Amino acid sequence: MKDDGALVLFSGGQDSATCLAWALDRFGHVETLGFDYGQRHRVELDCREAFRTAITAMNPDWAARLGPDHTLRLDALAAISDTALTSDAAIRMGTDGLPNTFVPGRNLLFLTFAAALAYRRGLKHIVGGMCETDYSGYPDCRDDTIKALQVALNLGMERRFVLDTPLMWLTKGDTWRLAESLGGTPLVRAVVEHTHTCYLGDRSHRHPWGFGCGTCPACDLRAKGWQDFVAERL
Ligand code: ZN
Repeated sequence: MKDDGALVLFSGGQDSATCLAWALDRFGHVETLGFDYGQRHRVELDCREAFRTAITAMNPDWAARLGPDHTLRLDALAAISDTALTSDAAIRMGTDGLPNTFVPGRNLLFLTFAAALAYRRGLKHIVGGMCETDYSGYPDCRDDTIKALQVALNLGMERRFVLDTPLMWLTKGDTWRLAESLGGTPLVRAVVEHTHTCYLGDRSHRHPWGFGCGTCPACDLRAKGWQDFVAERL
């Protein structure tokens, strides 16, 4: 098992793209993993290769460290859940206080599949963009959930995986600042141009913070984070 090997859960969104840069800055060998689970904003998967290309072009060390990309189909997730992320339903708040974009157990499944792949690839670190600070109330993004899962995976697979969540305590503004500290303006530009956040999959409207409908909860969070990031330089 490579101690300096990492597998990054890379969806093509802002958070996971920043996690990829974070991992390339730290580990000697980094592979990426994306999931096709029938998500409505499937366009995010198309952003993945563009971002990987952009990030390797800006830093030769990162280019040398970036290994293969993997994608796994998880059709079962859409089949067993009825949410606004996997259907055309309108995004709204449920009576349980959770938005109906919550796909039950999504991150638990993602991390379990990631660990199975990391096991085969001999990678010790599994990096994910889960965040408790600005999160939309998803219980599987909580620090305690991730720590509990790390214990379960290590017991169940007889390995010493480390689940790294560098964004766990950052605000969305901090995530832009982290990208800038890792790769300067070129990385911030690559995140703006080549990552996708909008739940509706809109890539026809361009804002200072990137593409999106501009009104869904994901666009709203991304836009607010960007405003926080640029406000301090005005
Ligand atoms: Zn949107």
